[in-house]
Amino acid sequence: MASRQVDIRFSSSLTRRESADGGRLAVQVEDKFVKIRNVKLDGRTEGAVDSREKLLEFCFDYCYWSVDRADPHYASQEEVFQDLGVSVLSGASEGYNVCLFAYGQTGSGKTYTMMGTPDSMGLTPRICQVRWLINTQLSFLEIYNERVRDLLKGGEQKKRATLRVREHPEKGPYVQDLSSHVVSDCKQAIDLLEEGIANRITAATHNHDASSRSHAIFTIQYTQAILENNLPSETVSKINLVDLAGSERADPHYCRDRLTEGSNINKSLVTLGIVISALAQNSQMSSSCQSINSVASEGDGSTVGSHSSSLSGGGGGRRHCFIPYRDSVLTWLLKDSLGGNSKTIMIATVSPSASSYNETLSTLRYAAHARNIVNKPRVNEDASVRLIRELREEIDRLKSMLLSFEMQRNPSPSLSDERDGNLSEIVLQNELKVTQGRHTCLHLPV
Ligand code: ADP
Ligand code: MG
Repeated sequence: MASRQVDIRFSSSLTRRESADGGRLAVQVEDKFVKIRNVKLDGRTEGAVDSREKLLEFCFDYCYWSVDRADPHYASQEEVFQDLGVSVLSGASEGYNVCLFAYGQTGSGKTYTMMGTPDSMGLTPRICQVRWLINTQLSFLEIYNERVRDLLKGGEQKKRATLRVREHPEKGPYVQDLSSHVVSDCKQAIDLLEEGIANRITAATHNHDASSRSHAIFTIQYTQAILENNLPSETVSKINLVDLAGSERADPHYCRDRLTEGSNINKSLVTLGIVISALAQNSQMSSSCQSINSVASEGDGSTVGSHSSSLSGGGGGRRHCFIPYRDSVLTWLLKDSLGGNSKTIMIATVSPSASSYNETLSTLRYAAHARNIVNKPRVNEDASVRLIRELREEIDRLKSMLLSFEMQRNPSPSLSDERDGNLSEIVLQNELKVTQGRHTCLHLPV
């Protein structure tokens, strides 16, 4: 069953420059609604011909007002964590892949939300502090100019090396040679996070403001050992925490004089925009066709199957748009998070200042688009355990069939015996497979 997995969260902050600019606000937040007012049209006389809307309203899953600490509605880092961080952790502990990414213009609070400051911790360190971080591996990378760099690799030479992105037929896209660090407690996790942030900042100092031009992905891979039907099993969940470059880089006018770098940063953000709108379009199309499909596919699982594969971007059914994940490194690496097996949360950060009206409106529109995407997350269960469970269910089904045949044995014993013989044979074979499955590792697509 499909479930909506892209939630939109709105947080806002007012930069010093904007406060100095008179502090005129263009945005109001009321519960889950955001109203944005075009102050340039304030003097417009009623009835004047102007196609521009004076007041626009958007609805999101959560809206946070983090402008003025003295404001009674001020949303703190802790409040944001209690809503979003906790839902990331509960998704991962249920065995799902989870992704949380912050999108918005430079200075609007993406890094503040994702990483925070020493006296006001953001989502990533808060998530790392949670006690269940046992059996956990961490990696931290940066995409700058369409090149991937490991933020946790020792030695200057290694730090500067560009890594290749490849695609595994079952596990999907990955970064070749990216270092992965096993951590056994929260302190180790926080130390690695800080090391990676420091590497990012060092690069930023040498390279002007590179950190606001790069995308950073911190990945926590969490393995849980469970006992299912008396069989040891494992679920592996991946949490991707993403701090993106400023969204104004996606504006072609912005980087006219920074051609190569600009166009590459553009490439990731522009592609992200295209991917999000194509996924949203496909999801909307799917939901409107769902009732028709469910009638047409009664008794035929294949229609539903092809329908869901095109939703995740793999099938590209005739009515569905092609999703150009591979057009940029960012979208390629986040393929599953954006349109596949992941519970994904997007946090749109905006400045409420009137001087940022255009950027804020474009971020809100972007977020409204992303809200329409429907992902298909599933629990990443151990394949051999899943097979054994399915075989056991089949055995139970066949056993109950045998029993009912025996109970209503018909007058022709030879026919009934033959039928019983066949069923007994299938039950035996399946029981054999279950026993074998316990001793061998079965490699099946997840
Ligand atoms: P971005 O990553 O979107 O470019 P930053 O997160 O670096 O922006 O924020 C710019 C500055 O504003 C930083 O100094 C940050 O600490 C501060 N800031 C951003 N959002 C808030 C907020 N909600 N409360 C307090 N300070 C904030
Ligand atoms: Mg930033």
